[in-house]
Amino acid sequence: MILNIHKDNSAVLSKAICEKYQILLLCDEQNTPHIGYINQTPPAAINEIIKQHFSILPNMQKINPKLFYQNIKFLPFQEEVKNHTNNISALLDCIIQSAIKYQASDIHIERFGQDGWIRFRIYGELESCSMLDKSTYKALCSKIKLESRLDITQIKEAQDGRTQKIIDNKVYDLRISVLPLFEGESIVIRILSKHKKHLMLEDLHLDLSHLNIIKNNICKTHGIILITGPTGSGKSTTQYAMLESIKNRNLKIITIEDPIEYQMSFATQIQTNEQLGFSQALRAILRQDPDVIMVGEIRDTQTLELAFSAALTGHLVLATLHANDISSSFERLLNLGLNTHTIFASLLLIISQRLLKPLCPKCKKLQNDIWYADGCEYCNMQGSFGRELVYEICEINEEIRNLAKQKGFENLPKQQSLYENAKSKNCFSQEELNKLI
Ligand SMILES: [Zn+2]
Repeated sequence: MILNIHKDNSAVLSKAICEKYQILLLCDEQNTPHIGYINQTPPAAINEIIKQHFSILPNMQKINPKLFYQNIKFLPFQEEVKNHTNNISALLDCIIQSAIKYQASDIHIERFGQDGWIRFRIYGELESCSMLDKSTYKALCSKIKLESRLDITQIKEAQDGRTQKIIDNKVYDLRISVLPLFEGESIVIRILSKHKKHLMLEDLHLDLSHLNIIKNNICKTHGIILITGPTGSGKSTTQYAMLESIKNRNLKIITIEDPIEYQMSFATQIQTNEQLGFSQALRAILRQDPDVIMVGEIRDTQTLELAFSAALTGHLVLATLHANDISSSFERLLNLGLNTHTIFASLLLIISQRLLKPLCPKCKKLQNDIWYADGCEYCNMQGSFGRELVYEICEINEEIRNLAKQKGFENLPKQQSLYENAKSKNCFSQEELNKLI
């Protein structure tokens, strides 16, 4: 049974009451009310309050403190949602503003039972924020489609759109994806800020020796640097940080991206579209006399071959690829049709990476060689805080190149693995480390 905050939580129980008794009004998919409590069942007076709103008394459910504190965080947002249900335009603005305030990268609006459900992706985790009644959910979906110039009468096909919002004098690009469901629609809004602080390589918490390897390679005039990992592993942040470190060197830098996540005044940035895919854009920019080319993502053989041939002909190429670790990156290159000779003729460096949730620095503890955290005020009782990069790195120097030519990439010397790198940082729970196994 999935329990979410009930859409009437704020109307029935004030924030002060929720906090005092550590309770929440929750609902399941059938919209049955539940009272969630952490330690003690709430006093009889609470039952009296609830009786006034519901014909049936809610079930009592002991809940995980994390669920309680996560929801308490969103109570002010839920009240705002409630206050704006009569003005859908104001409701949409409020949702976007709040998502930015909570540092969400995406807003998810979908069905939950008969009603609607809003979730924010914050630091890689989807967090349930608020429920919507059925009619508000439908009106909100139509409003989002209208604002992003999508066909509001079309409810059978997937649609992609975009729009812009100015909030606190800052411009935000919103990319909207609409997917029809059996009933209703699922809408995901990706928030792209033009004002996000650009991270430098020094901000990525790399080991000094690895930082120097990257800095040496990023200064080369030709070759390819590959950054690999699954979706949401921070690959583009690493790419941007690399470009930041060479921005003052009078180079012509061209990027091909989908989407453009950060705007860089020192680079020519190309957004791919239906007519201009990665391979077409790459072919075209080679005639633009670039020094450095950043390819947002290599998805097909054509783009891969073009990227490697650009690297062979006097360009530095930064590209990302979906692969789990260094050895599967090599396999992926071979599976996409490259031969070992081409790979090692131009490949400079592979970085395989992930983002994990580090334990809260204020409450983490070490017991029997295992780090854990119970949660504190600083981390909103979650026990973890933000995200931290873990990585493995393989520099293709002369020695590695010769070894690979003689024995194949599978016999290259082993580097520090993602798991070993994460373990060495002494800031992850065993559960988080296990994600790398
Ligand atoms: Zn803490």
